[in-house]
Amino acid sequence: MKSIRTCSIAIILFLASVCACAQTAMTLNVDATDAARNIVHSKLTIPVKPGPLTLFYPKWIPGEHSPSGPINDLVGLKLSAGGKPIAWRRDDVEMFAFHCDVPLGVTLLDVAVDDVSQPETTASAKLARIKWNRVLVYPQGMSSDVIIVKASLRLPSGWQFASALPIANDNKDDFQFKEVSLTQLVDSPAIIGANFRKLPLTSAGMMHDIDIMADTTAALEIKPETLTGLRALVQEAHALFSARHYRSYKFLVTLSDHGGSEGLEHHESSEDGVGEKAFSDELELLDFAELLGHEYAHSWNGKYRRPVGLMTPDFEQPMRGELLWVYEGLTQYLGKVLPARSGLWTAEDFRDAMAAVAAEFENQAGRQWRPLVDTAIAVQFTYPSPRAWMNYRRRVDYYDEGSLIWLEADVLIRTRSNGKLSLDDFCRRFHGGQDTGPTVKSYTFDDIVNTLNEVTPYDWRGFLNARVNAVNPPAPLGGITSGGWKLVYTEKPNTQVRIADHARKSVDLSYSLGMLLKEDGTVMDVNTNFVAFKSGLAPGMKIVSVNGRAWSIEVLHEAITSAKSSIAPMELVVENGSFQETHKLNYHDGERYPHLERDNTKPDVLADVIKFRVQR
Ligand SMILES: [Zn+2]
Repeated sequence: MKSIRTCSIAIILFLASVCACAQTAMTLNVDATDAARNIVHSKLTIPVKPGPLTLFYPKWIPGEHSPSGPINDLVGLKLSAGGKPIAWRRDDVEMFAFHCDVPLGVTLLDVAVDDVSQPETTASAKLARIKWNRVLVYPQGMSSDVIIVKASLRLPSGWQFASALPIANDNKDDFQFKEVSLTQLVDSPAIIGANFRKLPLTSAGMMHDIDIMADTTAALEIKPETLTGLRALVQEAHALFSARHYRSYKFLVTLSDHGGSEGLEHHESSEDGVGEKAFSDELELLDFAELLGHEYAHSWNGKYRRPVGLMTPDFEQPMRGELLWVYEGLTQYLGKVLPARSGLWTAEDFRDAMAAVAAEFENQAGRQWRPLVDTAIAVQFTYPSPRAWMNYRRRVDYYDEGSLIWLEADVLIRTRSNGKLSLDDFCRRFHGGQDTGPTVKSYTFDDIVNTLNEVTPYDWRGFLNARVNAVNPPAPLGGITSGGWKLVYTEKPNTQVRIADHARKSVDLSYSLGMLLKEDGTVMDVNTNFVAFKSGLAPGMKIVSVNGRAWSIEVLHEAITSAKSSIAPMELVVENGSFQETHKLNYHDGERYPHLERDNTKPDVLADVIKFRVQR
């Protein structure tokens, strides 16, 4: 689908409206002393006029592209003025809106709310994320750019704090912040915690740092080579985009296996919540490097340049996700390229990542019916989509399939320009320009096509339409094949597959038996093109024995290997609800994991893609 609006470029400056509407300034006092118990208390004062008023709880959350504001976690709502309670009633249709009648003579409304998050989500016993959108309401219908908020935050005793939000006063556990727009406030979350470490990533010029809260002090240890890689990440991003659109930048990292998990972009910070061992475990560190590269790239691609449909004036207007294959897809690509250029990934890590993505889409049943763009348009349903039948239903494929499309565009530009130009030139034109503070500049499908054509003339409209908007059974592997590599399957485990299995405690046999299992033998998904599905297996069934032996991961792997030299089918006994069934799998091709193999008939363009740009 092509955007109707062809050349609407809107520029919004965060700070431009600060002085214009001082009468809309509200105060927000957040008490996080109970954060470790998953309760955050909040008190607001909102300037009002007598008469009907509707208060709105942030619904459409930037970066989540969905009506995902956790309205069920808003409790304890009380309105009052001068100590007298004021009644409210929720809207019968819009569950995020609360109506009240402001009495004559009242100019300031007091609002109390509590945010009760689910255990092991935003907080652990030792750290928490403070997401301001969870602890406030605002007058419905007002742009978040013109609402000014003066916020404060009280921490648990002895805890520390990090955020891009500018501080006015810091009195140990009490922080007063400078007045900012509601837009900037929500874009500047905080992390708080008992164990804190802050490391600068640049030594001169604009400040970049990584601020880490962890469940333990041991988790804060960083290997020197990791720190070197993180510093290189900042340099490589600057070399790629050539300009920055923030005043300083913070990676807000939480390390816990029991809360704080997150990956969310902001203009001047990113929320990077990972496991406690992210700096020490080899696989978790590789995954973490991609998260940091991804969220950092978003400061340019997503926060500064944003699809017109995702540029909404408040947290109430619905977002339109049709260009998420740019917002998230290009970011997903850069989130693999930047760690490789920074030395946080090896060249083989990069190739294994592209191979894993290529294999997923090459073997995907759902692409027979659903165009990629539909996974973006339906983002509010594809994000929380169930795991079962995911291969057939498709999920948020605009991320990973998007990364394949942008790799293909990169290789195309490099090949057509004999190596003189690359997607870096697109990024410099599209996301670079002059250094600015946080600014938003919208774009349309046509703007993408036009900028690509400015870099290298080509039928980019046809290229993108064929891959994004049409039902497209062949996966877009042109970047790999034209880049001098072939997708192959071998018995050697793929690093990205190992990372995913480690993270979700799964056994990925997608390209051998054609199924994904939990470590306890429960079938998470099957691929309709493979033997597991054809033998009758389905998500939700649980394997209890393999060839007569009780279930274990090792027993299954041994059975796959021994079947190579046998003509007998593998025999799986599975539980389907309270019944047991026997399924025979006629499979004899051994373990199969995706990798890229060099095609010596073509130049190795992929090596050029990940070559570092900054001499170190
Ligand atoms: Zn993203």
